[in-house]
Amino acid sequence: MILQNVLTMYKKKFKSETIEISSKWQRADHLYYINDIIKNNTVVIDSLFNILDIVNNSHIKTNNKNTMINIANRYSDPFSSEGRKTIEEKYKAQFVDKPKRKVCYFSLCPSFSCNLACTYCFEEDYNIKHKKVINRENLKIALEKIKIEILRIREKEPETDIKLELFGGEPIQRSNISIVEIYLNFAREQKCSVSIVTNGYELRDHVLTLIKYRDVISQISLTLDGPENIHNSMRVTQNNKGSFEKITEAIDLYLRLKINVSVATNVCRENINSLKDLFEFYYKKNWINYPNFTAYIGQVASRTSKKIKSNVLYEGEILEKILKIFPDKKSKWLKASFLKITEQIASSLGVSFGQNEYGKAKYHYCWSSSPIYCGYYFGPNLETYRCVVSVGNQKYSLGDIRNVNYKSFSSSIFNRNIFSNKDCLTCNIGGFCSGGCVLERLCRGKQMCQYEHNCFEDFVNRIVKSQLKNLLSNKEFVTK
Ligand code: SF4
Ligand code: SF4
Repeated sequence: MILQNVLTMYKKKFKSETIEISSKWQRADHLYYINDIIKNNTVVIDSLFNILDIVNNSHIKTNNKNTMINIANRYSDPFSSEGRKTIEEKYKAQFVDKPKRKVCYFSLCPSFSCNLACTYCFEEDYNIKHKKVINRENLKIALEKIKIEILRIREKEPETDIKLELFGGEPIQRSNISIVEIYLNFAREQKCSVSIVTNGYELRDHVLTLIKYRDVISQISLTLDGPENIHNSMRVTQNNKGSFEKITEAIDLYLRLKINVSVATNVCRENINSLKDLFEFYYKKNWINYPNFTAYIGQVASRTSKKIKSNVLYEGEILEKILKIFPDKKSKWLKASFLKITEQIASSLGVSFGQNEYGKAKYHYCWSSSPIYCGYYFGPNLETYRCVVSVGNQKYSLGDIRNVNYKSFSSSIFNRNIFSNKDCLTCNIGGFCSGGCVLERLCRGKQMCQYEHNCFEDFVNRIVKSQLKNLLSNKEFVTK
């Protein structure tokens, strides 16, 4: 038996490991190779098992266009039936061995109307005709249905976290506020917390109503897309007025009221260069010193368009910018929420800025395709939707609330994982992408694969190579 050392990455450090070399060469096209970092060595990434190794080039060769590797029992082999079985077992084990706590959400959209007209809003593209507020009769039907679901979940799956949410359109506006109160009262009766996703424009106007429900409001999430001039060019009112001042006043107020406030910034080509100024504004406002303040960095995406819009950035482009602002690779108050296919590798490298996609299982692209996170959004006509970007689009509705249950997504298009498409298991980013965004696949077909590959390659070039070079040049990061 021949043994060989490889450097393998564990918890942001490299460790030397002794690996057996086989007399047989195994087909390994599904591994991702980077060969221009260390002389005579290749960085091998196994996305299926999230392994990152540095391997001597003598163990890798190209044969009849296939890449072969001779390190025994080290990497998954999705080309053999035995290898596929191992991967399936690993998939199932995550629910059995160390089951993640399940989450269930019921998210009310009191109406699909909005008091802003943001330039990148996906709901605008859906041509939603019914913008009326949910009527009392429908609300009663919905709440009775949810009450039954809650009872059943508490009895059958008591470990499941049940969360209620307010979404839209825009939930916090004058026309909706009586419905919002009914929902908050319902939450109190059911002993559930409610998070409110709002643009924040009228939040200050309704403080006297909302403050009465401080005990059930777990969080208010709103959006600032840049410093005043940038934000006001992207998030305008129906009359084309800026919304920055009213939203920042609301943030000040709710932080002082000790309600958790999360401020998201959706980053695209137009506002990426203003991030630093926006963070300086947070410092100036002293928001970063409130324990109930968190800032999130998200991404403007074009999940439902036929072509990716030109202002959409790759994940690596956003992370590179954040790393320039926070060279220590961490922040007490800033979290990433834009890392999708690059999340696992960013986390291994210690540059994921606390991203934790709650409810996402391994071998699923996002929480909405994952069986750990169940539930739905529901709107004025009692139609239900699975993921945030599908809300309001009849084409993607799961059906009438009376006919669905909180697990109904599992028999819908949204139940997607790495096994749903035969190419994903042998794809060299398969374990990270795992079939991709359901909506993108429907709208762009195979073109989305090219995008995900380009996005990963861009991430390798911008982030992985420089981070690895830094780690390897620092002796303390290599342990025996
Ligand atoms: S969706 Fe495409 S890019 Fe993603 S894992 Fe499957 S084959 Fe690979
Ligand atoms: S399917 Fe997932 S990734 Fe795609 S839009 Fe919905 S939540 Fe986002």
